[in-house]
Amino acid sequence: VATWLSEAHLRHIQAHGSRDFPHECCGILLGTAKGDEKRVLRTVAMTNTHEDGHERRYLISPLEMLRVEKEARAEGLLILGTYHSHPNHPAVPSDYDREWAWPWYTYIILSVMGGIPAEMTAWTLLDDRSSFQEEPIHLMDAPPEAGS
Ligand SMILES: [Zn+2]
Repeated sequence: VATWLSEAHLRHIQAHGSRDFPHECCGILLGTAKGDEKRVLRTVAMTNTHEDGHERRYLISPLEMLRVEKEARAEGLLILGTYHSHPNHPAVPSDYDREWAWPWYTYIILSVMGGIPAEMTAWTLLDDRSSFQEEPIHLMDAPPEAGS
């Protein structure tokens, strides 16, 4: 499985991570999937509604999720996964991330060190939910709509 991102989306996720630092930011990846290739065509910034000060955890509100699902369907796009930041922490999934993840979806994690975007990684959960597998992020040329 590989995830394709445009430079505009990459920058959108990085900007969101910096803006919300030292809190975790989160958002949704919309796009198309063909075989093992996922193409992100839109990144949608979400509000982190987790109660624990959002520093190590993120939670997307079901209402916001519903709205994005509707938009995606109207545009013929799939929800491919989510992105979130790890403030002052490496771009490696936490136990919490694994607990809340679903198979098939792509989880992009951006490390933000001192407010500066650092490493970005992508992960999918194994079907038996035992662990995450890292998957490559490829940059694609055509910069589609960068999202909100
Ligand atoms: Zn995390």
